[in-house]
Amino acid sequence: MDKNWMTIKNRWSKQYKQGVESFIEFAMANSGAQAEIRCPCIDCLNSKTLGREVVRIHLILKGIFFLQTTGEDGGHARRGVSIRMSADGRRTLEE
Ligand SMILES: [Zn+2]
Repeated sequence: MDKNWMTIKNRWSKQYKQGVESFIEFAMANSGAQAEIRCPCIDCLNSKTLGREVVRIHLILKGIFFLQTTGEDGGHARRGVSIRMSADGRRTLEE
């Protein structure tokens, strides 16, 4: 999954909105039977579970909370959205 959109400052841009859509689609596909996903906006910080419409609005109005995780700290010391591709090609969304 392309994460470049998370760094786009203009949240009304087409690319950012497309990124939000692809994120929501990805999160919904990985949420199992749940109709709600964790909101990664700067206010919710992945701690709230909300419907996709609300998450979309939060990500556009508030912005996504995103910290680039580096290999050095293994991503454990920081909170943020990270997507990992495992050896069998399955993608998982991690906090
Ligand atoms: Zn939110």
